[in-house]
Order: sequence, then C-alpha cells, then structure tokens
Amino acid sequence: MSTEAPTPTSKLPGLSTTIFTQMSALAQQHQAINLSQGFPDFDGPAYLKERLNWHVSQGANQYAPMTGVAALREAIADKTAQLYGWQPDANSEVTITAGATEALFAAISALVRPGDEVICFDPSYDSYAPAVQLCGGILKRIALQPPAFKVDWPGFTEQLSPRTRLVILNTPQNPSATAWAVEDMQQLWAAIAQQEIYILSDEVYEHICFAKGGHASVLAHPQLRQRAIAVSSFGKTFHMTGWKVGYCVAPRALSTEVRKVHQYLTFSVNTPAQLALADMLRAEPEHWQQLSAFYRAKRDRFIQALANSRLEILPCEGTYFLLADYSAISDLDDVAFCHWLTEYAGVAAIPLSVFCAEPFPHKLIRLCFAKQDATLNSAAEKLCRL
Ligand code: PMP
Ligand code: GLN
Repeated sequence: MSTEAPTPTSKLPGLSTTIFTQMSALAQQHQAINLSQGFPDFDGPAYLKERLNWHVSQGANQYAPMTGVAALREAIADKTAQLYGWQPDANSEVTITAGATEALFAAISALVRPGDEVICFDPSYDSYAPAVQLCGGILKRIALQPPAFKVDWPGFTEQLSPRTRLVILNTPQNPSATAWAVEDMQQLWAAIAQQEIYILSDEVYEHICFAKGGHASVLAHPQLRQRAIAVSSFGKTFHMTGWKVGYCVAPRALSTEVRKVHQYLTFSVNTPAQLALADMLRAEPEHWQQLSAFYRAKRDRFIQALANSRLEILPCEGTYFLLADYSAISDLDDVAFCHWLTEYAGVAAIPLSVFCAEPFPHKLIRLCFAKQDATLNSAAEKLCRL
C-alpha cells in the first residue's frame, strides 16, 4: 500500500460547506452587511447572561444528566402546556439537545432505516437531507411553489407508499417564511392516520410567528403528537445562536429511541447554560411571549425601508427571514446574484435554489432581519440603490 494518505470514498458525495458558512465568509471577505446566515447582531437578555455566570461561579461545571437538567425539562413541559394545551412528562418526553440540529439528526438516525422513505417539503432546511442519506433512507422532496408555498394535500397523499416512515415538516418555515395553519395539521393527520408514519416537526421559530391564527404546533394536535417529535431551539428564542441548546418533545416510546442516539452523539449538553435557560424561562416568560411582536416590528420596519427598492417582497408569516424577488434588477441566477450582491452592493443574502432538489427557476433571495435597526437601515439604503 502507498504511504500517501488515502482519500475515503465519501458517504456524502457532492456535499460541500453549507451555504450559510459560504455566504458569511464572503460577507466578511467583502465587508458586506451580512443578512445571509440567520443570527442576530444584538445580544440576548442580560438576566440570562447573569444566570450563566452565576451557575459557572457556583461550580455547575460537570456533566448534566443525559436527558437534560431537570429544571429545564420541567420549565419546557410547563411552557408546552401553557401554549399547546398538553403537558408532556418532563422525565420521559422532553430531551435537551445540542441545538435543534442535534435533535433533528438524532431523530432521523433513530427512526430511518435503510430503504425507508422520508418526505420533506422544498425549499427545505439544509440539515435534513444529509441525515436521511447517512441512514440509507430515500428522501422524497415535495416542491412547494412561491409565493404561498402551500402544500397540495391530495398531491401529498399520492406521495405516500407502504415504505413511508417519516414526514419532516418545518413551521414557521425556513427559508420560505410561511407558516402552516391548523387545517394543514388536520390534513396531515387525515393523510397518515392509517399507516405507521412518524412526524419530525421542526418548530425552532415557534415564537416568531405572525400568521393570523398564530403558530400551529404539532403538539397541539391530540393525534399527531402521539406520532411526533417536535424540535425547538433556544438559539432563536433568546438571541443566543452560539449557545447551541435546543430540545425535542416526543411521546415516551419515541423519546426513548431518540435518547439512544443522543447519548452517543453528545451524551449531554452544557450544564450552566441549561440551568440559566431554566431560570430565564421561569423569571421572564414575557421574553418569548413578546418575541413575535418584537420581530414583527423589525419585519415591518425593513419592508418599509425597502419600499423604494426594485425588490419585490413576498409575504412573511414567520421566522426572521424575508424573501425578495430580484427579477426587476438582474437576470443572473440566484447563486450568482447573491455573490454579485455581496461583492458589489455590499449586502449578503442567501439564494433559495440551494434548498431545492428540482430546478428552482425563481429569482428569490432570503434576507435576515434579526438585526439592529441601524443595520437594517444601512442594508435597505444599499438595496434601494439597485
Ligand atoms: N431548523 C431550522 C429551520 C433552522 O433555521 C435552524 C437554525 N437556523 C435549525 C434548525 C438549527 O438550530 P440550532 O442552531 O439550534 O441547531
Ligand atoms: N439556521 C441558520 C440559517 O438558516 C444557519 C445555521 C447554520 O449556519 N448552520 O441561516
């Protein structure tokens, strides 16, 4: 054998660094205003940071329990009851994970067997497909169409087969910025009720929803929640994406399987951050209660600031992203346009086509408005010049 280092046959051929990493790096390189990767340019609550420091100073610096700190699991169970009318058992049905990313990966790994079919809706968040692929699952991606990105339920039902194992949904949805209604949950249940199909519901933007009926959680549906793993993230809720603490709520049998993966993926999650988050949930519930209003104001301010631009803004029902159609400005495809925008206009954005399997001929970019007003104003000024 040659002494040169071998190149392993990739288990994920064709996959490169995520679009978020690529565009943030490009933004930095060109000193552009970074509205690409989704993270706030302002800090989280002072109380949360104080509690983190306090717990560190008190010596809460060893492994947390595998399933998560009890105080945090209990606070999540109480919040779930308050919001969705059902109280999960904090011991057996709530698991703390290293961000939503780990919960998604653990859930997919626990459920998907080689040859199983998994359904998701495009444009879909980038972490689902590689996880399904690593498990040997077959991903069936249903393409939703702008501007409403609505699921055609008869069409969805046609995609089901005896091999369908899991449906992955995301509401409010990144990157389309749309939200499911309660009727969508009812349609989903009607479609899958007769088969052993599970649901992975990515609800990391549960507290950033502007839709009329509010956020429709899978946990509020009495039948669906018996089949569902609901995932959320404190990164979004408390403006702390770097803390990487998330969680999932699922019935005991499903949680047991997710925990089997979780205990060998990370085993447990940052102890002082969990304790601080538990304190925060108890002491300042108004933070998450007012989060939709906080981001609605940012969304409206940004839309207003873009009123004189040639971008056409799509409806935004949730998340902290706004979609914009740039066809009045350029004929470039969306990836090329985002590169041009970063380099020559000084604003970084995310192209939509990278979230889709089928060719996505629309000229749409995603702009993150989780930014200080001054940042949004400067970005809008640059975009209005185009
Ligand atoms: N799902 C969606 C839809 C997201 O937008 C994100 C992050 N922006 C995640 C999952 C991952 O969350 P976390 O950072 O907590 O891992
Ligand atoms: N979820 C964030 C977004 O949509 C990015 C997270 C990441 O960089 N992996 O922008």
